[in-house]
Amino acid sequence: MTDAQKRQIRSMRMDGIGYKAIANSLGLNVDQVHLYCRMNGLAGDGTLVKANYSIWCKQNNRCPVCGEKLRQPKTGRSKKYCSGRCRTRAFRDKCN
Ligand SMILES: [Zn+2]
Repeated sequence: MTDAQKRQIRSMRMDGIGYKAIANSLGLNVDQVHLYCRMNGLAGDGTLVKANYSIWCKQNNRCPVCGEKLRQPKTGRSKKYCSGRCRTRAFRDKCN
């Protein structure tokens, strides 16, 4: 599975699209898609994925925009996004 496919799985799950439809459109196996979703906080009811994902990211120390693992600073405020680019993207998404 390529990074591009992973990104697409995430964004399709955010739109509430099912595993089978994702697998078909990306030319992947349903089991592969399901496993990836289970490992990455994208499993469960399609309508709830979006709401659950931000909670999952917080619990698992992941960037809610790209799913990258966050490197938290030893001191000071904990980071919510992996990079300035993701933070900007998150804010832009909220405005739409
Ligand atoms: Zn990120």
